[in-house]
Amino acid sequence: MFIDIAKITVCAGDGGNGAVSFRREKYVAAGGPDGGDGGKGGDVIFKVDTNLSTLADFRYKRKYSAQNGANGGAKKCAGKTGESITVYVPQGTVVREAESGRVLADLSTDEPVVIARGGRGGWGNQHFATPTRQIPRFAKRGNPGECFEVILELKLLADVGLLGFPNVGKSTLLSMVSEARPEIANYHFTTITPKLGVVRIGEGSSFVMADIPGLIEGASRGIGLGHAFLRHVERCRMLIHIVDVAGSEGRDPIEDFETINRELKSFSEELSEREQIVAGNKCDLATDEQIERFRKYCEDNGYEFFELTAAARQGVDELMKYTAQKLQSLPPIKRFEIQPAEKPDFTKTGNQEFTITVEDDVYIVEGRWLLKLLEVTDFEDSESAQYFQRVLNLSGIIDALREKGISEGDTVSIYDLEFEFTN
Ligand code: GDP
Ligand code: MG
Repeated sequence: MFIDIAKITVCAGDGGNGAVSFRREKYVAAGGPDGGDGGKGGDVIFKVDTNLSTLADFRYKRKYSAQNGANGGAKKCAGKTGESITVYVPQGTVVREAESGRVLADLSTDEPVVIARGGRGGWGNQHFATPTRQIPRFAKRGNPGECFEVILELKLLADVGLLGFPNVGKSTLLSMVSEARPEIANYHFTTITPKLGVVRIGEGSSFVMADIPGLIEGASRGIGLGHAFLRHVERCRMLIHIVDVAGSEGRDPIEDFETINRELKSFSEELSEREQIVAGNKCDLATDEQIERFRKYCEDNGYEFFELTAAARQGVDELMKYTAQKLQSLPPIKRFEIQPAEKPDFTKTGNQEFTITVEDDVYIVEGRWLLKLLEVTDFEDSESAQYFQRVLNLSGIIDALREKGISEGDTVSIYDLEFEFTN
């Protein structure tokens, strides 16, 4: 089965913990703090591998984790950075965050993209000596790496998509005009993986055409292979709708044509408005009346119509020439815009778990959501800083700090943020 959608988990590495350590010097009982910082966790990076044509690999391996950063050591030794991992995907893979559905990346080029970022390493106690706190017996834990589910969808990058019922001659046409060698056979669903072919028209002019699994009725509701097909034509700049004009399998060409356009429309209104031209194939088997009836139908409905006998290469060059010309006037291949994360409403209470540990009058507050809160807070902006304050109150952190016995002037430490507690 051809796999073009997959759900996997990506986990970046956690940052290593900072170390608590003190210099040992001869004749000095306790030297200064020299605990090193933890290393950064590795990232999960996505990159295109042009040798891949499906997402089938993701059926077996569903979790991709980068290495954690190592803990810091004594003598200001920083922990080793965790190794990143690279996940290879076919060109045209769109990565979405599973929970929100927002687009994180469109892997259309060579450019690697960091999908899950590793956590920062925690500071060692070397950073925490102050005039009033000369023997800091604590260090920072590393930040957790980002970890979440993503949905991968393969949406081919082709200028032209071939549309049509199984067995109408799509693969035959592609094999006639490009180096691509799709399987051609006289039964339905021979094409189970999409094939891309480069069509060259004279000098310097070329375009990419895709032959994809056949579309059958009910495709837009996920029946058969059709659903996968529709995902692929989504990006195509134009469609060539191939119809068996001879009705050689007992179906009516006009009905075929309308069925497929109905499916297209119920999958996506936008897609149904994409430029579409019609090729009536298997003209060698059709009577003149059959061809003329279908031609008239197409022309009455405003479609450009071409006669084709793909198997004998008749009408092929005219069709390709017209296609190349048409493409010049059409917009480029659709790229999926990266959608920024919606700012969560941190003032909504619930699910805001946190822990507080107290070390040397430093109150260390932790909780994954706090990392996100810090990320969106701009402390230079008074409105943003006030919002932050409000969230600390509403989430119960301030009350919890008081319960733990915090007093004026003690330090509150929330990941990279440290501030003095004031009542
Ligand atoms: P696809 O399922 O749309 O990709 O169709 P194929 O390209 O695999 O073709 C299905 C069958 O139709 C094969 O047996 C082809 O040889 C045959 N075929 C394709 N084009 C023509 C044509 O122009 N005339 C005739 N008679 N048969 C054709
Ligand atoms: Mg085929």
